[in-house]
Amino acid sequence: MKAKSPLDIYKFLPKTNCGDCGTTCMGFATNLIQRKQKLEECPHLSDSSKRKIAELIEPNIKEVEFEGLIIGGEEVLFRHELTFFNKPPILIKANEGNYENVLKDVKGYKKIYVGKELRLDGILLEFKSDESKYLKAVKDLDVPIVMIAPPKILEKALELRKTLIGYADVDNYSKFLELAKRFNVPVIVKSNDLRKIKFLGSKMRENGIKYVINPVFDSFAGCYRRVIDIRVTGIKGDNEFSYPIMIDVDNNDVFYKVIASLTFVCRYGDLIVLDEVDPLVVMPTLVLRENIYTDPRVPVAVESGLYTIGKPNGDAPVFVTTNFMLTFYTVKTDLESAGIDCYLLVVDTGGICVGASVASGRFNADVVKEAVEKFKVAEKVKHRKLIIPGLASRLKGAIEDATGWEVLVGPVDSSAIKDWLTKVWD
Ligand code: SF4
Repeated sequence: MKAKSPLDIYKFLPKTNCGDCGTTCMGFATNLIQRKQKLEECPHLSDSSKRKIAELIEPNIKEVEFEGLIIGGEEVLFRHELTFFNKPPILIKANEGNYENVLKDVKGYKKIYVGKELRLDGILLEFKSDESKYLKAVKDLDVPIVMIAPPKILEKALELRKTLIGYADVDNYSKFLELAKRFNVPVIVKSNDLRKIKFLGSKMRENGIKYVINPVFDSFAGCYRRVIDIRVTGIKGDNEFSYPIMIDVDNNDVFYKVIASLTFVCRYGDLIVLDEVDPLVVMPTLVLRENIYTDPRVPVAVESGLYTIGKPNGDAPVFVTTNFMLTFYTVKTDLESAGIDCYLLVVDTGGICVGASVASGRFNADVVKEAVEKFKVAEKVKHRKLIIPGLASRLKGAIEDATGWEVLVGPVDSSAIKDWLTKVWD
């Protein structure tokens, strides 16, 4: 993004503060920089102002959109410098011979992680040899797809469905250019030679075609070096390299695939393609993606409150924890899977975990007292006992003094609660 501050954008806005965008002109400029609003939300811009602002807010790495998925759009090399914006979709390879089974696998896979359902995003459909079956697959697949085929097959497939197509190389790129212009779709350019990628990119750019770079996964080290070169120079403003990168992890060794897919989720893979739905590869890739693509400027928190687990009665234990999302879901899942009917009192520590919030003082006797009163815990249970996490043991006396409730110190690891509880709770 060229704009360094909201003022760079503000000068092209009408400055009437009419509020039609839901805020003031300066607020809108700030939101555009932070990518919380879209340019179209101000209906009072002249065409020339729109063009100038669009140039100023265009991401360093261009966004490419297909079938409802957006890839690229990144601004920085390291997440902590700002945030990463668009999670790389994870696609599974299929062809016209096996697409029905692959589709079942793709739709059937899910992983629950910190309360979210993580799923695969679609299919990369490769042409093998049967044109009519390939075209049937294009029609049948009801998930996002990328189409990989020779241009003469793609010409027919694009009549059925507009999506990202590939692969354009130095020999066939003019045919891909024709198709991309005619059907208004983005193209994957493929080469393990950075000079060739640059050449192909320049041809796409000259013709106004958006593209995705496939730097070829021929070896881990070679691909990694190319990816780093492409992204570093792309972020610095190299026109041809400022486009999303596709990583096609294809290898017989599962361990190798895990390492590769995780590495490229962290380092600049904007679109990840795997050769099968192997949980050993898919699960860590989805979970890591979830972690890398959270906004480091925003605490990962849940609402504080009194949560009900199972069917607690007046004798049920009351567990206390913080509102860090990962802690909350870990404790909640452990209590649920242990079949414990209880209350979970979640106190507001600003989305900070137990250890860090105890150390920083955000998890303290006063916030526990406030939560006990605010969420009327005394009206739910007959006893006056709170169970705090093992990592918060040093708060026991202070919480007892502040609340007047007896405090039991639970285990450090919530997976041990079930055994611990049988020894201390009647
Ligand atoms: Fe300013 Fe446009 Fe928002 Fe009105 S709609 S406040 S003119 S940015």
